[in-house]
Amino acid sequence: MPTVLPPGASRLRAWLRACGLPNTLPHLLPTTCLLCGQWQGQPLCGVCVQRWQRPVTRCARCAIALTQPTRDAVCPACEDHSPEFDRAIAALDYEDPWRSVLSRFKFQEATALAAPLATLLWQALSQRPHRVDLIVPVPLSRTRLSERGYNQTWLLAQQLSRRLGCPARHDVLQRTRHTERLMSLDAEARRAQITDAFDVPSAALPHLQRRHIAVVDDVLTTGATLNEVAHTLRAAGASSVSAWVLARTPAPPDSRRRAQSGAGVSEVVHSLSKR
Ligand SMILES: [Zn+2]
Ligand SMILES: [Zn+2]
Repeated sequence: MPTVLPPGASRLRAWLRACGLPNTLPHLLPTTCLLCGQWQGQPLCGVCVQRWQRPVTRCARCAIALTQPTRDAVCPACEDHSPEFDRAIAALDYEDPWRSVLSRFKFQEATALAAPLATLLWQALSQRPHRVDLIVPVPLSRTRLSERGYNQTWLLAQQLSRRLGCPARHDVLQRTRHTERLMSLDAEARRAQITDAFDVPSAALPHLQRRHIAVVDDVLTTGATLNEVAHTLRAAGASSVSAWVLARTPAPPDSRRRAQSGAGVSEVVHSLSKR
């Protein structure tokens, strides 16, 4: 398992900031691959991507990795309770080394990862083409945005917009409530935290009504956030909502074993229940 090396650009970016120079300059300089440390032009090299991006058959609704073929390519959990979104597309499983790469992208200003990570998502999208009129990032609260300085999902949305020739807007969905970090919470606590956390400004309604919307997020775990976003967008008149995520949390190992033994995917895999 590779170690994620510190990006050579991060210290340079801090130095440029201290000197009052634009911190986008490091994106133009040679860098090292985060996974193998080789010098080259991109923060992820082709060899590492090929090595660590294994092909996965995923549930058509929630993108969880399927351990065995199922009817309509939908996992048992989604057959029981369909998510609010129409489909989910994921580029990766949320496992190392990608978990570390996404952490760099999200929390440590490794914004140069937006382009190569968007390429992985774009490749996954090309396997399941569907109509989209507008790309929307999952918004951060004002507090979180000022802490982090950037919204990683907006960086991805812009990259995908350019590749697909489809408009992207960050002003049609807003986060009205600051929430605690959801990663450490269970499914029920996540749902309670995120309920009514999003809103559509009235000026944005014409951009959503009868439109097919793609929502971009970095990780899909229980689906609480994307369910709430999809619920909000549908209430604002969207015809369909697709969830585009970099990574999908895989089922816990015990539920994988139970699925392989014919017991079905456990209800603890995720809880994408309708509101
Ligand atoms: Zn590499
Ligand atoms: Zn599913």
